[in-house]
Amino acid sequence: MLTAQNILDTTKKTHPQVWKNKRTVTFLPTSVKEWRDTKGRKVKTVKGRARDSGGSGRPHNLEIDYYGRGKNAQVWVTCDCEYFQYNCEVALFDEDSSNIRWSNGEGYQEHGPNPDAAPRACKHLAYVLDLPGDKYPTKYRSKKIVDRDV
Ligand SMILES: [Zn+2]
Repeated sequence: MLTAQNILDTTKKTHPQVWKNKRTVTFLPTSVKEWRDTKGRKVKTVKGRARDSGGSGRPHNLEIDYYGRGKNAQVWVTCDCEYFQYNCEVALFDEDSSNIRWSNGEGYQEHGPNPDAAPRACKHLAYVLDLPGDKYPTKYRSKKIVDRDV
């Protein structure tokens, strides 16, 4: 599983335009939950809607599981935007940092959008992953640790 920092670095390096485009992204968290996975690890799941006023303006739903704090936390991510579907999902799945949910799960073509299969983020995920760890609204933060089967 990759860290938030790994994904941010790869995004900057392999598609700087995404990094630039994230400047106009806003994010509204709809739920933040803390729970433990079957291995007993603490996980913080952040779900919410991101939109880019400089892009289509359409809202996109994203989800991030943080295993740890800050940029060094390992993360599992997904976003329902097209960029994520075509550029990110399979490459991140190969690193155990996503699941196949939106794409057909096939690898990237030599002449496709991500020929090197670089595990990078869309602008929505890049924006949220780059937020400082304490930026989430506390009203969404649950103190309760619940057990959940994965
Ligand atoms: Zn996205």
